[in-house]
This record gives sequence, structure tokens and C-alpha cells, in this order.
Amino acid sequence: MLNQEFMNTLSPVELQFFQSYAYKLIQEKVTAETQNYENMTGSICECPACHCRYIRKNGTKNHRQRYECKNKDCKHRFFTVTTGTFFYHSKSPYHTWLAFLGCELNHLTLEQEAVVIGRTVTTCFNMRHTLYSAVSKKVMSVSLSGITELDATYTKINLKGTKTKNMPRISKERGKHKTSLLSKNLAGVSHHKVCIITAVDEHDNILYRIGGLGNESTDKYMKYKKNFKNSDKIISDSSKSIRQFAETCHITNDQIPCIAGEQHYTTKEGDSLGDVNELHTELKNLMRKYHGISTRHLQGYLDWITICKKLKYTTEAKRRSYVVYMDTAFLKQMLTTLNICSQPQPVSLYDAYSEYHYGIFGDFNQNQHLS
Ligand SMILES: [Zn+2]
Repeated sequence: MLNQEFMNTLSPVELQFFQSYAYKLIQEKVTAETQNYENMTGSICECPACHCRYIRKNGTKNHRQRYECKNKDCKHRFFTVTTGTFFYHSKSPYHTWLAFLGCELNHLTLEQEAVVIGRTVTTCFNMRHTLYSAVSKKVMSVSLSGITELDATYTKINLKGTKTKNMPRISKERGKHKTSLLSKNLAGVSHHKVCIITAVDEHDNILYRIGGLGNESTDKYMKYKKNFKNSDKIISDSSKSIRQFAETCHITNDQIPCIAGEQHYTTKEGDSLGDVNELHTELKNLMRKYHGISTRHLQGYLDWITICKKLKYTTEAKRRSYVVYMDTAFLKQMLTTLNICSQPQPVSLYDAYSEYHYGIFGDFNQNQHLS
């Protein structure tokens, strides 16, 4: 298989031979009509539904190779190479996806993306969320090691995109809360804010997850205990919850002192929360640019910021869209356009708004614990 290691073994003349040959092939194979499945043929070795390897070719459908699963108990008898990947429901060809990934890497708005790739805003919305759900699997299992910065930030629940009939409260006027998109100490009712837990280790591994509703707590940090298995030291502000969390996990906790009248940004040993703060600033800027991010999709945006950050450290700008394409195109995920908007809320709206007795929580006796 073609990889960096193999390329490094080539001599200068071999590389130049390779380059001229590759150039000729690109002219032939990469056109405006190139389809995504052409990048994936050869990758198939198992059934996407039951993962058994007992498959065989079964004719073609729309010029694409069709496969048949020979497992008698499998519900998914026929499939193609794109089944279960984010191209399955997409009519956009390869070059449109590549352009779209370029837009996403530069955090363009849906309206801007629609202009660049020549599709509707709705198509861009669907492409964005299939992409985010594909990358989410990659970032979820991150293992933090060495010295790790840890902190929490807050944002208000945002119900953008929720139909009026499904609202748990009266819609707020747009633009009313522009100053408090993301904050360290968000004022107001505490269980109406979403707590986001952020950790960055010395190798630039990032954990960026929704912790739940309300203030930080040891329980919220404990949810991600397994991600800290290899961490030896946690840098944090003077937070009781983090101190307790570190103690429970047997990790040293070096805290930035909080002394009245004095400003401290580093621990005694000179460590700061710089990387974590940078991630918070990025999210804040993104929220301003996108005019708020709905809580339903917030985790997706956090995952995407994580991926972009990683790429920034590891890959030069012009190669990033190819890397994302190769890294995510083959991941199997079953999100369809139909279920993007019905993804479960990451926090319980019932806990936040049941006291309002409004909209979906209007009739209190119905026991509708929607979440
Ligand atoms: Zn199967």
C-alpha cells in the first residue's frame, strides 16, 4: 500500500519518475465526473451490516459493482462500496466533496459553502453533519498522556432549528445574548447552561466533550476517567471538582493559585492553560460567526474543531482536505439525512425546562420525559 514510509525509500530519480507518471494518471482519472465510489473500490472485504467476510460480487447497479452477503441471517443482503459511508446518500461527486472539505477546514458558513460548491444550503447542512458524525468516532476514544491541561467552559442551551411545536420555552429574541455566547462563569440559571469539558495533553491530544447541564462537578469529569488513564499530571485552575477528580484517579493536580487581588496565569512550575483557552476562543469565534450553534449539534462542532486543530499540527494546509477525505471516507456510519435533525439532545431539556410548563413540557401530567 502507498504510504509515507514507502515514499521515503524511493531515490530522487524514482520519485521524479513517479511524479510524471502520477501526473499523467491524474489527468485521466480525476475529472469533474469522478465519483466517490471510485476511491473506494478495492477496500471492500466484509459486509457493512454483519461484518462477515463471506461476500461475493453480484452484478452491477448504475455501473457500480454490487455485492451480496452470503450470511443467511443478515438483513442487508446487497450492498455497494459506499454503503454505510457518508457518500451513500450523496449525489455530489468527488471534486464537490473535496471542495466542501476545504470550506469546512476554513470554517465557512453554510451560505458561503453553498456559493463555493454550487449546492443549496440544505445540501451543505446535510454534508456538514454527515461529516461531523463520521469524525466523531475518531475523536471519542482519545487517550491523554503526560502533562494534561483541564478546564470547563459554559454556553447557554441553544434550540436553533427546533420547530415551534417542539419548543420547551418561548423563543428568545435573536441577538439578545450576543455577549455571553461562551463564558467561564456564565450568569443566570445554572441548569440552563451546558458545561463543556476541555483537556489538552503535551502531545496535542484533545478531549473536547459536553459534560452535561449546570456547573462543573466531579461526576462530570469522572465520565471521561478512562481518557485520562495515561495522564501523569493535570494542570487546572483552582477548581475543587478537578482536585477531587484527580485524587480519585491518582493523578497529580497542579493548580493555578487563585489569590484575591492577584492575577495568576501559571502554576508555580510555570504551566498554564494556554492550549485549553485557545480551544475555548476558537469555539467562541465560531459561535459568533455561525450566529449560535444548536446544542443538538454542539458535540459535532467540538469534534470538528478537534480534528482541525490536530491537522494544523500535523499536516500542511494544502494537503488537509485529502487527509480528511482519506481518513473519514472509509469509516462506516449509518447517519442519514433523515436522522440528522432527530439526533438526540446531548443534555436533558426536561431537566432544564420542565419548570416552565411550556410547549413540549406543557402538560405536566403526561410524563413526557423527552430528552
Ligand atoms: Zn451481512
